[in-house]
Amino acid sequence: MKAEHRTGHIAIVGRPNVGKSTLLNRLVGQKLSITSRKAQTTRHRIIGIHTEPEAQFIFVDTPGFQLKHMNALNRGMNRSVTDVLNAVDVVLMVIEGLRYGPGDAHVAELLPPDAPVLLVINKVDKISDKGALLPFMQKTATEFPFRAIVPVSAKQGSQLADLLATIKPLLPAGPPLFDADDITDRNARFLAAEFIREKIFRLSGEELPYATSVVIEQYVEEGKLTRIHAAIVVDKPNHKAIIIGKGGEKLKKIGTDARLDLEKLLGTKVYLELFVKVKSGWADDKAMLSELGYE
Ligand code: GDP
Ligand code: MG
Repeated sequence: MKAEHRTGHIAIVGRPNVGKSTLLNRLVGQKLSITSRKAQTTRHRIIGIHTEPEAQFIFVDTPGFQLKHMNALNRGMNRSVTDVLNAVDVVLMVIEGLRYGPGDAHVAELLPPDAPVLLVINKVDKISDKGALLPFMQKTATEFPFRAIVPVSAKQGSQLADLLATIKPLLPAGPPLFDADDITDRNARFLAAEFIREKIFRLSGEELPYATSVVIEQYVEEGKLTRIHAAIVVDKPNHKAIIIGKGGEKLKKIGTDARLDLEKLLGTKVYLELFVKVKSGWADDKAMLSELGYE
């Protein structure tokens, strides 16, 4: 007898920086959700789709819950996480091995009461004492009624087949919602803005990335070339100088790195032109946020 097809939404939640976005990208096999060493890189809800013959997994990456700096941007992000959690079939709660701290316990408190929750212990590649993993798993099992506990390394891609096999029986029966070769619900224009934002997170100091947003002003496909004009929106004139850097070096590096990622995603040559605009107070201005693409 043919097995019943399953389709479901799986939320990826956890403290900032535990590797949620890295995990999503690995599960889908394509970089979609941007990542960095800095907390709160992810600002938008983004889905990544993995399709097997008998199941479609729709992963939802979420920004970490924001507890500090309650501006309109952060309030919107919290709302988006809560909305996602109320509409999923399975929750992956990601932690960093070997640590289950108050921040993780706080995330667990926010989980919906109905959906099964799997604990994903990420970054096991960083654990030098492998013998410590099993006792740690036993201890975390007492923290919350996790349906299962799966250690993985999102960065190295290890144990992900196990993770998928654990999720699959928890998905509800149903037809696929996306084509087999769809990997996300976001368009290339959105991903282009995100990839540029990632480079700003990776290439600039502590505060600046949080005061920065990216808008695609022109996106034209010309056969084997994609022409993209993007504005980097900053909060203050001195931010503009920092982004541009000495002799334009920083901006040039942001552009080159983003272009290489985009060429990989799009499979075309990319001509990327970046410029910097100052718009004070954008992160607390509702009209400006909606213009910048925040929900
Ligand atoms: P998020 O804030 O939870 O989405 O975390 P990110 O996916 O942005 O990852 C945060 C940092 O952890 C990045 O520097 C990643 O490269 C790193 N990271 C993610 N997964 C792993 C892993 O399995 N092993 C190691 N060593 N680093 C990881
Ligand atoms: Mg993230």
